[in-house]
Amino acid sequence: MKKFILIPLCLLAFVLSITLVNVFRAKSFQTHYDPVLTKTIPIKDAIRRLSAAIRYKTVSSLENPNANSDQFQALNEHIRKSYPMINSKLKKTNVSNASFFYEWKGRNQNSKPILLCVHSDVVDVDPSTISLWTHSPFGGEVSDGFIWGRGSWDNKSSLFAILESVEILLKQGYLPERSIFIAIGQDEETIYGKLGAKAITEVFQKRNIRFEYILDEGQVIAEGLIPGIEKPIALVGIAGKGYISLGLETDLKEGGHSSMPPLETAVGILSSGLSRLEKNQFPLSLGEVPRTTFEWLAPEMNFSSRWIMSNLWLFGPILKSKLSEKNSTRAQLHTTTAITKIFGGFKDNVLPATAQATVNFRIIQGDTHQDVLNWTRRILEDERIRLISPDTIFEPSSISSTSSKGFETIRRSIQETIPNAIVAPAMVSAYTDSAHYGLVSENVYRFFPVRVGPDDINRFHGIDERISITNFEEMIRFYLRLIVNSSD
Ligand SMILES: [Zn+2]
Repeated sequence: MKKFILIPLCLLAFVLSITLVNVFRAKSFQTHYDPVLTKTIPIKDAIRRLSAAIRYKTVSSLENPNANSDQFQALNEHIRKSYPMINSKLKKTNVSNASFFYEWKGRNQNSKPILLCVHSDVVDVDPSTISLWTHSPFGGEVSDGFIWGRGSWDNKSSLFAILESVEILLKQGYLPERSIFIAIGQDEETIYGKLGAKAITEVFQKRNIRFEYILDEGQVIAEGLIPGIEKPIALVGIAGKGYISLGLETDLKEGGHSSMPPLETAVGILSSGLSRLEKNQFPLSLGEVPRTTFEWLAPEMNFSSRWIMSNLWLFGPILKSKLSEKNSTRAQLHTTTAITKIFGGFKDNVLPATAQATVNFRIIQGDTHQDVLNWTRRILEDERIRLISPDTIFEPSSISSTSSKGFETIRRSIQETIPNAIVAPAMVSAYTDSAHYGLVSENVYRFFPVRVGPDDINRFHGIDERISITNFEEMIRFYLRLIVNSSD
């Protein structure tokens, strides 16, 4: 009898000791760089320039590429007038009606250049929510220590912080070692970036320009978002998910009177197909990128969290189920399925012959768009629902290295600006322009230093988008360090 108790107890002690060894063996990935404070930030003028930029309603549109062109022109004119040194010293190349890039020629033409990319367009404001905004969404108001309005985060804060930092360095007579390109696209928010990122990338390809590294928007500085870590966490995106929107259509070729309906209608067939897709999501797994994130975060956590994170071989399933509770973390674990559009019918007493829907998938590394098509066909298993593939598909990106010169430069610039920040590589679930720019470099990073707390997540593309003045100043300091550090 004793033996039956003793064996499991010994096993338990053995497993426990292995987990404890792993906790203490987990070495920190963090490096230490001393903070560097640049004295001369003209923050009042910088705020005025960002706040003016928010007042231009640069909303892009997929259907009408010329939408708000007067606003885009006015914003570009605002940039031209605000940064005289940039406009006299850097070479500007116009690519589309409102997209362009600057080239700041470096001393050493044998060193590969770097590319900083931003977008000047913003998403529109849902008219039904305007009254819920504390300050007018396109007012650029400065109040309570914040600059308010659409674009104050995404992505005019980056755009203006980069321009501010370059202008400061030019005034100091600084000349970078390697050339620095700044690409400003006009249509990131319409997803396909045809006039912006895609067109600019084609110019780079024609000129055979390859970049040492690329820094695009994407991940942020997370504050209080990851349990077990109180310090700010600068998550540097090393991979982006793929993107495909599939059309689904049911065409029964006959409608009819709603007083004598068949047992199944076009809308009913399509709806039950959509419901099956929603119920049968792609399986969850802790892939390479989320695993890397946790490897980097584990040594920085309190003991109980570190115990779990350092022993994913044992606790992986528990962690997976914990992460699957929140939409934002579940998205890191699989290819997501989201029904985004549905149409069918035009009159209450007429049976529609056709019904259509759109399902948007964000594809994780390891899956391809072909896997999405196969999966969808298998789940639908109904030949009355036709699948329509879009012209533009983005496969998931490759995973950029955490030991490249680019990653180290970004990490160093973060720590010199925000000394208590922890740096960790991460995944970006949303589409960004780097889906195009990724063609001209192996090292693509997706990060901009906006601080995001639990209360802030819904401000992205949502109500009361704003940036604190201290954070905006920090962003300028970050890009200053990044440009200087890129010379090393
Ligand atoms: Zn953006």
